[in-house]
Amino acid sequence: MQDDIFIYVGENGSSQLIDYCQANNISRLMLVVDDNTYAAAGQQLEESLRTKGFDLKISHLKGQEIVATERYFVQVMLDIGREERTLVAVGSGSITDIARFVSFFTKSDFIVFPTAASVDGYTGAGAPSVIAGFKKTVICHSPQAVFGDLAVLSAAPQEMTASGFGDMLGKYISLADWRLGALLWNEPYDETISRRVRVAVDRCVERVAEIGQASPEGVQVLMDGLIESGLGMLAAKSSQPASGSEHQISHHLEMKLLWANKPAILHGVKVGASSVIIARYYEQFRRLSRQAVMEQLAVAVQSSREQYIREIEKAYPGIEAQVFAEQVSFMSLSEQGFNALRQKVVDNWAEIQDIAAAVPSPQQMIDWLQQAGGETDLTALGFTSQEVQEALDYSHLLRNRFNINKLRHLFRINIV
Ligand SMILES: [Zn+2]
Repeated sequence: MQDDIFIYVGENGSSQLIDYCQANNISRLMLVVDDNTYAAAGQQLEESLRTKGFDLKISHLKGQEIVATERYFVQVMLDIGREERTLVAVGSGSITDIARFVSFFTKSDFIVFPTAASVDGYTGAGAPSVIAGFKKTVICHSPQAVFGDLAVLSAAPQEMTASGFGDMLGKYISLADWRLGALLWNEPYDETISRRVRVAVDRCVERVAEIGQASPEGVQVLMDGLIESGLGMLAAKSSQPASGSEHQISHHLEMKLLWANKPAILHGVKVGASSVIIARYYEQFRRLSRQAVMEQLAVAVQSSREQYIREIEKAYPGIEAQVFAEQVSFMSLSEQGFNALRQKVVDNWAEIQDIAAAVPSPQQMIDWLQQAGGETDLTALGFTSQEVQEALDYSHLLRNRFNINKLRHLFRINIV
């Protein structure tokens, strides 16, 4: 699944990066850093590269919060100019996404030097970006190499490591959602990729105590898992193996914070807490008998186009057109198609319960998150109950995807 990305996670990441560049005749680089990542790793990397005679530029991003938005895309584009340079993203998710985006559109190569095991997007091709206020993954390209230095990664704030663990824990949900989408909505699915991502997340929960202490061994397992998950998305040519309904809740909340000019919350922290909620949905699906679900499905009425429009306008003012475009396949479902789907749910109820049974219980998810030092409840992160409820009610509208939350809404299945 590694494609042709060179990956190194271990001791002395910076000297490995230098060796790699020298072996591949890469001599012109531009580091993309912010204040924190410059202090954590960028400065040392800059000194090492200068000592070795590299032609080096620095794109130093300023601001309280670095988010992958137009502002930073333009700054990095201006910094690189029209020169041919390999970008080196020194940072975590956002800096990597900015470098990925700019390198793609300037036809440059890029390398990642992560400063925290906080997110699984390092190896992927997609750059989750906020463009004109809408959070969307722009498909760009994957890095040519990733160099993780265990000393740097272990020294990251524990909340960053806990965020990476939360992002990994979300795979239990995304893998179940992926299977559900394949079963009920004929979405493309790959069992081999699914199994590999599952092994990666299982390994992380086995070593959760070490991850909670950010020991080099724990951070290595976590970083390996995050990289494997990114490679899974790359192999599937879709984020589905690693991003399901739990990520949609997180994306919804992230946009709401951005629109309200409130401080961002680490991606994986929101994903971890959202995963607990969706694990509860799966638990309740598992308890629902075929008979009970048939009774609910029998009275389910399909949402009209007008209802979709009303909901989208209410939840996503300003980005209605983009959200609308994501929902076309669901909105244009004929009555016949709706009834066929209803029958499919009934006919496949045993398999749906099987999918649900593969998701750990919410209590188990909570225990793991606590061991990693992560938050388990979205309200503890500052969201009101109403904001959380809105995320659960509307976030399924954000993507043209099937998942348990979509299933719940399509038939208004009452499980809570
Ligand atoms: Zn994620």
